[in-house]
Amino acid sequence: MPALPNTPFKRLLLLGGGHAHLNLLRRLRSEAPKSWQVTLVSPHSRQIYSGMLPGWVAGHYALDDCAISLAGLCERAGIAFAQTAAIELDLARSEVLCADGERRRFDFVSIDTGPEPALADLPGATEHALPVRPIEGFIKGWPEVMRRWKGHTGPFEVAVVGSGAAAAELAFAIRARASREGASDVRISLVGRDAEPLAGTAASVSRRVMRLLQTRGMHWRGNSTAVQILAGWIRFERCAVLPFDACLIATGAAAPHWPRAAGLSTDAAGFIRVDRTLRSVSHPQVFAAGDVAAHVDPRPKSGVFAVRAGAALAGNILAACNGAALTEWRPQRRALYLVSTADGRAIASWGALSASGRWVWLWKDWIDRGYVRRYQE
Ligand SMILES: Cc1cc2nc3c(=O)[nH]c(=O)nc-3n(C[C@H](O)[C@H](O)[C@H](O)COP(=O)(O)OP(=O)(O)OC[C@H]3O[C@@H](n4cnc5c(N)ncnc54)[C@H](O)[C@@H]3O)c2cc1C
Repeated sequence: MPALPNTPFKRLLLLGGGHAHLNLLRRLRSEAPKSWQVTLVSPHSRQIYSGMLPGWVAGHYALDDCAISLAGLCERAGIAFAQTAAIELDLARSEVLCADGERRRFDFVSIDTGPEPALADLPGATEHALPVRPIEGFIKGWPEVMRRWKGHTGPFEVAVVGSGAAAAELAFAIRARASREGASDVRISLVGRDAEPLAGTAASVSRRVMRLLQTRGMHWRGNSTAVQILAGWIRFERCAVLPFDACLIATGAAAPHWPRAAGLSTDAAGFIRVDRTLRSVSHPQVFAAGDVAAHVDPRPKSGVFAVRAGAALAGNILAACNGAALTEWRPQRRALYLVSTADGRAIASWGALSASGRWVWLWKDWIDRGYVRRYQE
């Protein structure tokens, strides 16, 4: 590791207030390593819990119910909070260039900045559609979609591009919100490149989602790879265009460009390759966790695994700062996914098993509220 100028303290730089870093921020309250100056860099002073975002769209939650104050967590932990974004990593000089123009030095840096929206193959998406990520951008844009359908006469076509759980949850949430607002002319299409929605999950989950889409008057358009978004139209690789009045994009996770540009070892998609201690395989002064990391034991990019990585990351960063041995993390094989259908029910998916009903929604709501509350207190 390159030597930094002599200072009476060392520097730990945390990039992003993602799920894994939340765990560390809490532990720093009572376990701050001696002689270390810790700074969290995040473009927003709050972290919106993505698992509850569809519930906010549906009108089940106020935004405050889904928000964790990063600035507050930093204050309680006695660490510095810098409201800005990392834009460049200089591994030779051990510093991060931030959007506010400052270069922040580090002895250790930990990266939990989440995914970028996967829009590279979809020209026009940022101009003519509303991507669900970055989440703060979506939060700004969503009220405008509702305002437009309220002022619209005749059918208002909403297209949600994406076939994963987040896209399906959003589509159901929009259906629920439109009903709640009495906007009976809002029509919703879920558009994906797979034959069925939630293709990576058990067949019974896809079937449950398909059935619900039908019974709630929503349209599934599968085997449709969108290649361009125009003002009011989606163009596809092979099939006919789809007109829309509003288009939302929830097409999965892409890697930020700057970790690979810095010379960190990444996988083919640009995600940071880490070993089982969550340390970069190429640069031991770098840790990474959550969607931005590529693990030895590959797992789906999801909040569930980002949360699970949190305890391991926190333990290892504290150990590294204290000069102690690191511990290996082996993620569980399967995770429980709870998909809200925004009708007071949800679908549970665990490996090949699935279930649905009101009790699943009550369970999800309890887990999600509990998670956020743990960091709000
Ligand atoms: C609508 C929706 C619903 C979802 N529901 C579920 C679910 O129910 N279950 C599930 O398992 N997964 C769900 N997911 C997926 C889940 O959101 C992600 O897998 C998860 O957020 C990844 O966590 P993370 O810690 O890697 O990053 P994130 O949660 O994305 O957090 C990253 C943080 O870093 C900040 N940041 C970004 N760039 C920078 C930068 N350059 N410098 C500094 N800070 C930066 C961001 O502002 C953010 O605060 C959902 C996703 C969406 C979009």
